[in-house]
Amino acid sequence: MRRIAMIGAGQAGLQLALGLQHHGYQVTLVTDRTPEQVESGRVMSTQALFHDACETERQLNLNFWDELCPPVEGIAFSVPHPELPGHKAMSFEARLDHPAYSLDQRVKFAHWQRTFAERGGQVVTQHADVTAAERLSDTHDLVLVATGKGALGQIFERDAPRSPYDVPQRHLALAYLTGVRPRSGHSAVTFNLIPGVGEVFLLPGLTRTADGAWLPYENVLIEAIPGGPLDVFGDVQDAAEQVQRMLALMATFVPWEYDRVQDAQLTDAMATLIGRVTPQVRHPVATLPSGRPVLGLGDAVVVNDPLTGQGAGSAARAAAVYLERILWQGDRPFDRSWMQDTFEDYWGYAQYVTDWTNALLGPPPPHVLGVLDAAQRHPSLAHAFVNGFNHPPQFFPWLTSPQEAAALMARHGAPSPAAQA
Ligand SMILES: Cc1cc2nc3c(=O)[nH]c(=O)nc-3n(C[C@H](O)[C@H](O)[C@H](O)COP(=O)(O)OP(=O)(O)OC[C@H]3O[C@@H](n4cnc5c(N)ncnc54)[C@H](O)[C@@H]3O)c2cc1C
Repeated sequence: MRRIAMIGAGQAGLQLALGLQHHGYQVTLVTDRTPEQVESGRVMSTQALFHDACETERQLNLNFWDELCPPVEGIAFSVPHPELPGHKAMSFEARLDHPAYSLDQRVKFAHWQRTFAERGGQVVTQHADVTAAERLSDTHDLVLVATGKGALGQIFERDAPRSPYDVPQRHLALAYLTGVRPRSGHSAVTFNLIPGVGEVFLLPGLTRTADGAWLPYENVLIEAIPGGPLDVFGDVQDAAEQVQRMLALMATFVPWEYDRVQDAQLTDAMATLIGRVTPQVRHPVATLPSGRPVLGLGDAVVVNDPLTGQGAGSAARAAAVYLERILWQGDRPFDRSWMQDTFEDYWGYAQYVTDWTNALLGPPPPHVLGVLDAAQRHPSLAHAFVNGFNHPPQFFPWLTSPQEAAALMARHGAPSPAAQA
């Protein structure tokens, strides 16, 4: 059986390693952290996984937490009123056709890594560099790099035409909080867009305490436009100060969310994160000093800002696409052109995630505002918009075409702004 090496044990690397193992491949997994270090480490994400991404895990029987994890049943979108504090200028909500889930990645990755080892997989705990990748390529038929935003991903060159940004477009502050009052109605990702300022998101998740008890919590993510009024986390000294600043911002900008979180507590001492992500696409094939190629996977080659909640879902999708293509390749070589084609197969989907996410980082054009406005009065349009999060290609072509946006609105019985004028 062919030997495959995976560097990186996150959503993409673990899912693909477990999938290959399931199909009888001999897989070496190289990771810089033991399961215990992952479990006791810092939170990494809000990790909302929408239905199609969850299905890729279910196909491999990796969905150990479906019965435990609180479902995210919908998305509620709001824009605060710029002049009337406490009021909304725009709001609509709709149910997802199938729930999304947010399981703390610390819990998931640690358990998946142990599962891989228990099933006979070889785990090497090491911070891999190019020399390590080279050594793996001596003894494996294929080396994959799935190190997320880690430095090893820099062996893949930036793909400039596919990467409109070269600096972070948001500064992020994340906290996992318990004691948050549930919103009325169904559970949801609450997506608060504050024009010119940033975004505030809340969504339910599940984590585990140090003594093993399951603990439902709420992810709270603030995405600040750099230099703006939400961008206040650069000098925070500790977790308590970060949470206090997050709550103060919520009281000012999204008081309906502050009402829910004002008595909340952190789930644990490592439940906060401050960060920034430069959205970029990289060329998927890198050449080692020996001349042998390696293939990139997940965030190592396509990383988007978290504001659309797609990174882990896209990593899951990439793992599923790569698995299918590895199986299909049989005993034929994993050469450079196979690697490029494999990535392009995934990019056929990921390009829409990237274009949509990058578009949302800028101010929405009038035709997009028109769709959002009409969604308030036309529940079927709100439903279509919300369910696009499960399959972002659905945002096209209307996202980039005023004519298509008008046609979309017409299909949902909403007069286009031009017809109303
Ligand atoms: C604040 C925030 C909120 C987010 N919210 C969401 C969301 O709601 N929904 C969603 O779908 N996505 C979300 N994401 C993005 C999502 O978490 C990532 O896109 C996803 O985890 C990427 O998967 P990956 O496997 O490519 O990388 P990762 O999950 O980052 O895994 C990479 C792994 O490689 C290991 N590694 C790194 N370097 C090395 C090395 N040199 N040697 C060995 N191992 C190494 C790391 O320890 C890590 O375990 C969010 C991200 C952030 C920052």
